[in-house]
Amino acid sequence: MEKYTEGMNFASNVVYEYGEPLSANKLQKLTYKHLRENIGLLSQMSCNVARQVSGAYKSLQEQIEKGKAEWKQIEFEPTNIKFSYRRDYKINQEKLSITTLDGRKEYEIINYSYAKQYFSDEWKYLASELVEHRDGEYYFHLSCEREVEEKPMEEASNFMGIDVGINYLAVCTTTDKNQAFFGKGMAKDLRKTYKKMRERLKTKGTFSALKRLKALSGKEKRLMKQHNHKVSKEIVEYAKEQNVDVIGMEDLTNIRDNTEVRKRDRYCHESWSFKQLQKYIEYKAKERGIRVKYVDPEDTSKTCSRCGHINRNNRRGLDFKCQSCGYELHADLNGARNIEHRVKDFRHDLESQGSCQPPDVDANETTSA
Ligand SMILES: [Zn+2]
Repeated sequence: MEKYTEGMNFASNVVYEYGEPLSANKLQKLTYKHLRENIGLLSQMSCNVARQVSGAYKSLQEQIEKGKAEWKQIEFEPTNIKFSYRRDYKINQEKLSITTLDGRKEYEIINYSYAKQYFSDEWKYLASELVEHRDGEYYFHLSCEREVEEKPMEEASNFMGIDVGINYLAVCTTTDKNQAFFGKGMAKDLRKTYKKMRERLKTKGTFSALKRLKALSGKEKRLMKQHNHKVSKEIVEYAKEQNVDVIGMEDLTNIRDNTEVRKRDRYCHESWSFKQLQKYIEYKAKERGIRVKYVDPEDTSKTCSRCGHINRNNRRGLDFKCQSCGYELHADLNGARNIEHRVKDFRHDLESQGSCQPPDVDANETTSA
């Protein structure tokens, strides 16, 4: 890994000096000889280095175009290394074998009884990474994908709207008006606990306090991630029980961190955790053959899910009361109902346009685990 990183940093310097991103091919031509002869990397590793470094500078360039970064030399740390399937890693029975500078090495796969579900013919293996974890141990992250059958949009009849938020991580409601609430207070409690700890450390203001502050935010993120994994699993189980064909969620891409979410829920909660939960729901749903569709989030919390009246005053904290028709229900459930309506409308629009083809090119989509 150290040699590999040395190679990465060499290639990184080449791109930096060149002054703009280079394609993987071009970079490979410029670095291959040095990587092989002077650093001692194997042929495949040298190709991976060029591809990975080229990709990193392309992302940097995108950040620069958005005004979020400046041209700089990217430094790589010896914390991860990429392997290509068949070329430099293989799975044999219960063992993983990887190519190293000291030849081929085999390792037992931990927790094989769990992992073996991914070792059937339907799964394809992708480039995978060896990663140094926080505990100092090295783990191989095997990436795999398989084709899943998704029911075509025109055959969809049962929809589920999911509203993600701070009071409940998620509120779900189906076309048949079955509903479920998940993760009550989980995000809020986590926030509260860590907010207190953060405030204490901030008033201290010492160097070690600041260091602990940083560690704390990492820990909070990891706990949130665990919650999101658990809840997304439960939600998809529920969707499966309810025979849901399509899950609808709000498209939060334009919701910026903090500010707009704070308005939305009156709590400082970063939108990354909402987006993360949605992403987990999405891939777990796709694995089970449930389609996912993102809808316009505008006014979902202010619109009456019964009569469609839009009014800022419809919502008071957790209570929704329509100023026009008097309909009352839990505010997040009202939001979820509106999301369900929007995804159902989307399908009806397709039908009325005479074309009910799914928006994606192909009904079979790829999912990764
Ligand atoms: Zn109403």
